[in-house]
Amino acid sequence: MESQLLNEVIEKSNEYVLGTYVRAPFVLERGEGMWVYDTEGRAYLDFGAGISVNNLGHCDPGVVAAVTAQIAQLSHTCNLFYTAPQAELAEALCQSSFADKVFFANSGAEAIEAAIKFARKYALVNHGPGKTGIVVFTGAFHGRTAGALAMTPKERYQAPFRPLMPGVTCAPFNDSEAALEAIGPETCAVFVEPVQGEGGINPADVAFLQTLRDACDRVGALLVFDEIQCGIGRTGTLWAYEQTGVTPDMMTAAKALGGGLPIGATLLTDRVAAALEPGDHGSTFGGGPVVCRAALAVLERVSDPALLAHVREMGARLVDGLHAINSPHIIAVRGRGLMVGVELDVEVGPVIAAGWARGVVMLNAGTHVLRLLPPLIVEPEHIDTLLAALSDILWEIDAV
Ligand SMILES: *Cc1c(COP(=O)(O)O)cnc(C)c1O
Repeated sequence: MESQLLNEVIEKSNEYVLGTYVRAPFVLERGEGMWVYDTEGRAYLDFGAGISVNNLGHCDPGVVAAVTAQIAQLSHTCNLFYTAPQAELAEALCQSSFADKVFFANSGAEAIEAAIKFARKYALVNHGPGKTGIVVFTGAFHGRTAGALAMTPKERYQAPFRPLMPGVTCAPFNDSEAALEAIGPETCAVFVEPVQGEGGINPADVAFLQTLRDACDRVGALLVFDEIQCGIGRTGTLWAYEQTGVTPDMMTAAKALGGGLPIGATLLTDRVAAALEPGDHGSTFGGGPVVCRAALAVLERVSDPALLAHVREMGARLVDGLHAINSPHIIAVRGRGLMVGVELDVEVGPVIAAGWARGVVMLNAGTHVLRLLPPLIVEPEHIDTLLAALSDILWEIDAV
């Protein structure tokens, strides 16, 4: 028997929350570590981590303690005032990366919007007017706000909202020759995910990224890495770009950075920062003390070499196990660290729904790719549970 609470929440949501999402038919109430629990007391092993957000698992005690202490001390001030948590987080982000400066926002899309403005201003100051073009790639996802949407080349997302922000060119992903053609004197920035998330878990080739780096340097454009999904330890290094040997001029981070609270960050070099001045951009909540304390707790943990080694080890175990399932429905397994895509020859929607019935949460990336993004604290027994469930589900497909 389903509880009254379950039905009430679903009915109320459907009546009052704008219907822009398709949701699972249960109500989540509580989370702990690798697990989330619904109102019926059912447990789900979480291999989605809220789309690569809960990288330390649910309700990590360190994050909870940091947030609880800060919210009781000073929850908000706005950016007219200095606060220690923001200063410390900016320092930690810069010391952990190529960056010299950070701008704080509240989401991934906002971090992208900031990067668009910074690239345009940098080009204006350094090269004069007209250098406003932005190059993105097929399969990219940079967000849903107006600017970011123009850089997310998916017809389904873009079509109802035209005209989009002008100046965006889309070139084929991992195609160096096409990228060289797309990047020209009018280009102010090239945006790329070192590992594409929504687009199907597609790692960028190192040679491709190096080609982008060289082309940007040649035309005076900025190379921007979108690490909103693949950053914060997800791929087995703190930042995914560390595995490529290619360094960007700007980088966006969000999702896992806030330990479950909303945050976005745009990281940049001093060379880019020199083009920006007071009044060029702003945010009421960006870099608030509570989320910065949460992010400091997250960064400290995911920077630990032992945790990053664990991510690589668990990622390899997951990929090996997926290959061992040996299902004819698995076309490809790809990814980096604990960012793993499983391309199937069937639609993944029913596979994901079958997972819920077995107490596992998996995500999709498009219609035919299962996306597995467990919390980085995942242990071998969790991977084995996921693999057993997925194996059963894939074999059942043929039985029906
Ligand atoms: C999720 C995501 C975004 C958008 O972030 P929001 O917080 O949803 O606005 C942008 N880029 C990438 C790579 C993402 O995965």
